[in-house]
Amino acid sequence: TADATPPKQADENLRSPICCIMGHVDAGKTKLLDFVRGTNVQEGEAGFITQQIGATYFPAENIRERTKELKADAKLKVPGLLVIDTPGHESFTNLRSRGSGLCDIAILVVDIMEGLKPQTIESLNLLKMRNTEFIIALNKVDRLYGWKTCRNAPIVKAMKQQSKDVQNLFNTRLTQIVTQFMEQGVNTELYYKNREMGETFSIVPTSAISGEGIPDLLLLLVQWTQKTMVEKLTFSNVVQCTVLEVKVIEGHGTTIDVVLVNGVIHEGDQIGPIVTTIRALLTPHPMKELRVKGTYLHHREIKAAQGIKIAAQGLEHAIAGTGLYVVGSDDDLEDVKEATMEDMKSVLNRIDKSGEGVYVQASTLGALEAMLEFLKSSDVKIPISGIGIGPVHKKDVMKASVMLEKKKEYAAILAFDVKVTQEARELADELGVKIFIADIIYHLFDQFKAYIDNLKEEKKREAADEAVFPCVLRIVPNCIFNTKDPIILGVDVLDGIAKVGTPICIPQRDFIDIGRITSIENSLKPVDSAKKGMQIAVKIVGSNSEEQQKMFGRHFDDEDELVSHISRRSIDILKTNYRVSFELSHMNWLLA
Ligand code: GDP
Repeated sequence: TADATPPKQADENLRSPICCIMGHVDAGKTKLLDFVRGTNVQEGEAGFITQQIGATYFPAENIRERTKELKADAKLKVPGLLVIDTPGHESFTNLRSRGSGLCDIAILVVDIMEGLKPQTIESLNLLKMRNTEFIIALNKVDRLYGWKTCRNAPIVKAMKQQSKDVQNLFNTRLTQIVTQFMEQGVNTELYYKNREMGETFSIVPTSAISGEGIPDLLLLLVQWTQKTMVEKLTFSNVVQCTVLEVKVIEGHGTTIDVVLVNGVIHEGDQIGPIVTTIRALLTPHPMKELRVKGTYLHHREIKAAQGIKIAAQGLEHAIAGTGLYVVGSDDDLEDVKEATMEDMKSVLNRIDKSGEGVYVQASTLGALEAMLEFLKSSDVKIPISGIGIGPVHKKDVMKASVMLEKKKEYAAILAFDVKVTQEARELADELGVKIFIADIIYHLFDQFKAYIDNLKEEKKREAADEAVFPCVLRIVPNCIFNTKDPIILGVDVLDGIAKVGTPICIPQRDFIDIGRITSIENSLKPVDSAKKGMQIAVKIVGSNSEEQQKMFGRHFDDEDELVSHISRRSIDILKTNYRVSFELSHMNWLLA
């Protein structure tokens, strides 16, 4: 067992701020993180960067070393910076800790060549919703035509090395992007010109390939958080901890990956809401890749902020995205419990009261929330009948299959950023439950929408046979071509639409049925249908012997109107499948 290595505490006893990276796909989030991590001091030297569970820890000394050139006489009060490792992952960026964002600050990465993209705006909205501070990394400056590389240089210094052309190019793009942000209701400004930080968001031009602007970004993150978030960052004895992931690890059973936001956590602590005792507090060995299977360092205690793996009994019931509290850590306990409940409530409230809707499954509570928020705000309303967190299992498929009886098209699972077990997939296939999988919300939504649209089309085609369109026909005197079996008449279409297949009755004669229209002729040409105002010839064939008896001149005559025989069911079919609007002036019989 190794000793706990809590980050060094500075005078004011602040914890490390927690930062996440967001932005559109391909903006350079991963690369930026890799670059910051990659150019690190060798292990063993002062201030080495440590890999954590789901995060990377940058000690203050490392940041000081790398920002020397900025001569900011950086008095760093925070022990370091904890950067969440899963860039742009909606399920992580929407995570919360005790009602507020898990992240104290975010980096919103924007590609200088591309400007704002849909996901940038989505991220921006998430940040606004959560009231999270952020800094904009205007990335890929090295792609400006003619850019001269100044490895790891502060941005002002790098900019001075550039030709007038490059500087002009930069300024043009910057202005465009500032305008785009303004259109989203956000004021932005180059960070070193920004005199109203807090009101106006700062832009740091960066390159994740050659490192220009990276020192600026690091320094700004640390300085801004320690200056404006003293209260939030003050070290507390109350444990504040958020579950990132629940997963099975060889030799440890089900473990949880957590971010310890504040406080100290010990081996042997009683934790909740699943009441259990911490068996082991684990972090990766220094400099080992997180994903590499291997042994972990054991700790007796760990001080915030850090990413930790916790092993204990019963953790399979933990829910990613919810808070964790330490039992016996005192009075505040009820509050934490309540906060955890509050988080769940906001999600549960989104479930449709009618009980009809799709099943939504996501990796974390935060991801689920983001997903439900999206479904609610989209113009296609998709009701939700059930929710789940974690991989899709057989039981989830069973729950979704209830819809097969109620509303078949909703017998579907929207699986956001989660795995589907083999058995679940097999069961779904067998029962006819559709599973849609994606790790970007709107891809999932698009898939489902396409499926629904397709179903609608199919239903419409099926219903076409059964749909009876309203029509009112007036017999043209002297155009009686055949009085009986089949009846062939010249008619004016007074209202609605006359279609082949439409059953015809006579309202004035007790709604007697005389058969279906089997063919229509317009100016001697066969047609499928005829609209209001047209004069046509129709052939009406009785579908049974009774109808076949019906005869012009005996059962009805040219005083009578012929109308479609509409049933309650055919009206319903019309209503659900077609957008029909008819003047009902000629159809008071419909209301009779
Ligand atoms: P993410 O989807 O936001 O994580 O984007 P990545 O980090 O995967 O980057 C997308 C692509 O852009 C990759 O091919 C990167 O090599 C490239 N890229 C990222 N940052 C920069 C940069 O600053 N300059 C240049 N020239 N390319 C970059």
